[in-house]
Amino acid sequence: MNILILGSGGREHALAWAVMQNPKCDKLIVAPGNAGIAAIADCASLDIENGAAVIGFAEENAIDFVIVGPEAPLAAGVADDLRNAGFSVFGPSKEAARLEASKSFTKEICDAANAPTAGYGHFTDAEAAKAHIREQGAPIVVKADGLAAGKGVIVAMDEQTALDAIDDMFGGEFGAAGAEVVIEEFMEGEEASYFILVDGETCLPIGTAQDHKRVGEGDTGLNTGGMGAYSPAPVLSDEIAQKVMDEIIRPTMKAMADRGTPYQGVLYAGLMIKDGQPRLVEYNVRFGDPECQVLMLRLGAQALDLMQACAEGRLADATVNWADDHAMTVVMAAQGYPGAYEKGSVIKGLDALPETAFEMCFHAGTAEKDGQIIATGGRVLNITARGTTLREAADRAYAMVDRIDWPEGFCRRDIGWRAL
Ligand code: AMP
Repeated sequence: MNILILGSGGREHALAWAVMQNPKCDKLIVAPGNAGIAAIADCASLDIENGAAVIGFAEENAIDFVIVGPEAPLAAGVADDLRNAGFSVFGPSKEAARLEASKSFTKEICDAANAPTAGYGHFTDAEAAKAHIREQGAPIVVKADGLAAGKGVIVAMDEQTALDAIDDMFGGEFGAAGAEVVIEEFMEGEEASYFILVDGETCLPIGTAQDHKRVGEGDTGLNTGGMGAYSPAPVLSDEIAQKVMDEIIRPTMKAMADRGTPYQGVLYAGLMIKDGQPRLVEYNVRFGDPECQVLMLRLGAQALDLMQACAEGRLADATVNWADDHAMTVVMAAQGYPGAYEKGSVIKGLDALPETAFEMCFHAGTAEKDGQIIATGGRVLNITARGTTLREAADRAYAMVDRIDWPEGFCRRDIGWRAL
């Protein structure tokens, strides 16, 4: 098979690595890719949010299967365009991708499915939104309705912060994404992520994970795209995971099918768990980054078979072969991230790192320049390892971190502390 992956981050490097483990893959192209991906697959520059451009590229390269990594091309309808042109595609339709692109849409689906989630109000008018906040009091959560690159959620511990968030959102801080807001009840508990393949009808769980959003050790400091993750998530016990499937995932996926917009692809459920009861925080319509990195290292070659079965509506006959293992990924970021940081610093020592089924350095923001690897983003490397215990995975990951020579970078030293 000739396979095309759309995207350029650590998530796509992990997807590319897993795909390359599978003997079914004859040729892999990642567009646009990055320096780490270029070492294992062909990379091509392509406007991945332009359906016509992607179709043209897929035709020229005799692509048999397309995997869409990030949410933006999905929200732009690129999966639909490809399917309409006859390609087999892993990723939801534009309409189904609204589960991530519109918070109020997800709330309506939860209502229709009677799925447990935070109570909410949906507002298109700033004064009405503020009146609701004054009536409910803090803590309270204000969310821009649309895609805001992970920055459109304000968890307000006091009323004034929530009122200010309304001014910011209606004032245009998040562009069109903030012209509508969802205001939610604040949920307490422990957060975890659950990843489920859905082929329109059948729902097949492929793993749990937890990530660390804050930049500082002990989960302190500013929010980031994620400083590390581990899988499985101990808080999602078998019993709670079953509840998530029965009360949240299957009912909402049935609601999607019932309204004529069945979901196909990976569904990433962000959950809040308190006293043994899970509630939905949000859906995403793609793999998490960096959660994908730990899932791919655990799944290996079968990930491609599973994604293909998902795209072709064959999940009812598919199974996941689990090793009884644990994986961890440690994010190395440029000094200053998530604030201002320098680009272009040289990273040394990567050539000497092990590349095995147990340890991989996935690249997120890198490029090659004059034969050297340089940092081009905030989150730059995802050092990922697995082992029979989480401790073993952590020791392997940090042993790799210690071999990397990059004074301009940093990482958190306590990834997985809760579980460890
Ligand atoms: P979201 O983009 O909806 O996942 O929100 C980002 C983060 O905000 C989540 O991972 C939670 O930590 C937090 N959050 C979102 N909604 C709520 C809520 N209703 N109650 C408490 N925390 C929330």
